[in-house]
Amino acid sequence: MIAEIIAVGSEMLTPYRQDTNSLALTAELNKLGVTVAFKTILGDTFDHLVDAVRIALRRADLVMISGGLGPTEDDLTREAVAAALGVGMTRDAAVVDALKLRFAKRGIAVREINFKQGDVIDGADLLPNANGTAPGQWLATEFEGNERFIVLLPGPPRELTALYAEQVQPRLQMVAPKRYIATAQLRMAVVPESEVDARTSPIYTTYADVQTTILSTQGEIQLHFQTSARTLDEAQERVDEVAGRCEREMIDFVFSSNGESLEQVVLLMMGMRNMRLATAESCTGGLVAQRLTAVPGSSRSFAGGVVAYADELKTAFMDVPRELIQQHGAVSEEVARAIAEGIRTRTGADLGLGITGIAGPGGATLNKPVGRVYLALAGPDGTTAQELNLNGDRERIRWFSSQHALAMLRRRLQ
Ligand code: ATP
Ligand code: MG
Repeated sequence: MIAEIIAVGSEMLTPYRQDTNSLALTAELNKLGVTVAFKTILGDTFDHLVDAVRIALRRADLVMISGGLGPTEDDLTREAVAAALGVGMTRDAAVVDALKLRFAKRGIAVREINFKQGDVIDGADLLPNANGTAPGQWLATEFEGNERFIVLLPGPPRELTALYAEQVQPRLQMVAPKRYIATAQLRMAVVPESEVDARTSPIYTTYADVQTTILSTQGEIQLHFQTSARTLDEAQERVDEVAGRCEREMIDFVFSSNGESLEQVVLLMMGMRNMRLATAESCTGGLVAQRLTAVPGSSRSFAGGVVAYADELKTAFMDVPRELIQQHGAVSEEVARAIAEGIRTRTGADLGLGITGIAGPGGATLNKPVGRVYLALAGPDGTTAQELNLNGDRERIRWFSSQHALAMLRRRLQ
């Protein structure tokens, strides 16, 4: 079953308001195996509304319309749906009486225009609204030879979600073909989104029944897969197959397929190997330590770390020879290696991580631009180092440095 959601309200065409109802409805519809294939947002204009409803009825089995059920002149959803279907409306006496009673109780004069909330589209069922005055409507009808379902819901999110759960969900469950939804997810670190897409799209595009989305945030790329099938096993098998193939293609970068974060994975791998880490951070100011210690239970594998910002502290805490710093500069591969080895020796940890770099905006030199960062990882089998050339502002450079450092740790542990 394919659905279209129509959000009605001129305020959502301004820069100040967003349609959030469709997100809540999409989550609910997906649970029933209904795919949202189209969304339309439009203002309170009668002709546009009639057009939008007709277009939706041509291309979707289920049309969910939110907003425009209030009592004011610009609330036109009921009228527009009736016009789109070419049917009339009948005023429901019970709704009118309830409105009269409600207004009388509050001592407010009821106006004629309020009663249009009781106008029921021919053939529709009223859906009582426990949290507001405007009832919703449910209509099963034929449109241009196809069986269609139309649902009218009030705009205020609190009213819409309650009314959906109480009145609409049970009805949809009866009419929607039974489908089960399964999802899978892959998380990758420090790989460009374009590379992930170039390498995985030849795989996932061959699965037309699986919806694949790429999300990119803060040095992490996520691939989400979703499908529906007649049984849960069938759906799960399908998403696992495409996720597995994409994982094999991106094996160097994928750090989790069960939703764990990069920090969790690194800690888990150290725990399995009975290894402990100590960190010595300069430009990241303890960000790696902060991210690791945010995970419950990290004390088992994370010994601790220092923030050695001044050169003297690099010497005092990690025994970095002063001459080494003078010779190569504090931001250099040599110093990164020396602080990684120094923190490892001083703490007796199995692994020592060193980070030194220029986060900007100042501090660049002729041959060391802002964004130049050196990472080093000292372990029982030697020390490896990596040069990064990051772009962006101070915050981004610091974050990406920590992201690369965690990714480096993961690769070593692998
Ligand atoms: P009312 O009886 O309150 O007038 P209504 O069904 O006519 O209900 P609208 O007037 O369209 O609903 O919207 C009422 C309020 O609900 C809006 O001011 C807005 O804050 C919120 N709203 C409407 N549509 C949406 C939407 N799609 N997403 C989020 N909020 C919405
Ligand atoms: Mg309104």
